[in-house]
Amino acid sequence: MQTQPASRPAIVSLKAISKTFDNGTVALNNLSLDIAKGDFVSLLGPSGCGKSTALRIISNLTGPTSGRIDWPMTGINWDGNDAGFVFQEPTLMPWATVFGNVWLPLRLKGLSKTAAREQVMDTLQLVGLDTFADSYPRELSGGMKMRVSIARALVTGPKLLLMDEPFAALDEITRFKLNNDLLRLWETFGWTVVFVTHSVFESVYLSNRIVVMAARPGRVAADLPITAPYPRTDSFRTSPAYAALCRDVSHALQAAMGANAAS
Ligand code: ADP
Repeated sequence: MQTQPASRPAIVSLKAISKTFDNGTVALNNLSLDIAKGDFVSLLGPSGCGKSTALRIISNLTGPTSGRIDWPMTGINWDGNDAGFVFQEPTLMPWATVFGNVWLPLRLKGLSKTAAREQVMDTLQLVGLDTFADSYPRELSGGMKMRVSIARALVTGPKLLLMDEPFAALDEITRFKLNNDLLRLWETFGWTVVFVTHSVFESVYLSNRIVVMAARPGRVAADLPITAPYPRTDSFRTSPAYAALCRDVSHALQAAMGANAAS
C-alpha cells in the first residue's frame, strides 16, 4: 500500500518500520508513513492492528525491530519534548493537585513551582481549567481529568501531539465537546496531531487524513484524505457530507478487516 505523498514537509517519517515483540507477535510489518506538518492524522483500525505500537515508536517509548524514524525538519531534535503523549487513561497523580500534575513535565526538567507557574497556568487556561488549579483529581469529572492530561502533554510546548484513544472512556456528550476543543486548539496553534482511534465517526470528524490499518501483521490498508473544510462544528456532524465520508471510511475499514479475515 502506497501512502500519500505529503504535500507539506514531513515532521516525522516512518520508514519500513517493523516491530516483533519478544513473544513472537508481529505488531507492525513494513510500515512507512510520512506525517506532514500541521496535519491531523488519525490511525484507524480494529484492536490489535498496531496503532498504539506505531504511536509508541514515534514517541520513542519503544524502539522498532527494524526500519527507522526520521525527523526531517530542521529545528526538531528528538529530546523527549518535541512530542506530547496523551494516553487513554488520564494517569494523573491522585495525591497532587491539577497544578502539580501539569507542572510534572516541567519539574522533571528542573523548573521550580514559581518558575513554572505562568506556563502551567497558561496551559490550564487553554483547556479551560485555570480555576481548578488547586483541585485534586478525585474532585474532577472524567472529561476534566482528560483535560488535565492534555494540559500535561501541552505544557512543554510540543510540536507534535500523539493521542492514544484519549476520549474512548468518556460519555458521548463529553467526547463531542473535547473533540471541538481539540480542533479549536489545533487550528489556533497549528500543531501536528497523530490520533489513534477505532471510531470511524470520531476520525472523520477530526482528521484531514485517515490512515486505515489492518491487523496481523499491522500495516497500512488505506490512506484517505478527508477534505471537508475546517472549522468543523456540530452542524458538520449532522451533515450529509459527514455521513457520506463516514460511509466511505467505514467501507475502507471493512475491506481492511475483510482482507485480514481472508488471510
Ligand atoms: P492496537 O493499538 O491497534 O490495539 P497494539 O499496537 O496495542 O494494537 O498491538 C498490536 C499487537 O501487538 C497486538 O497483537 C498486541 O497483542 C501485541 N502487543 C502489543 N504490545 C505487546 C507487548 N508488550 N508484548 C507482546 N505483544 C504485544
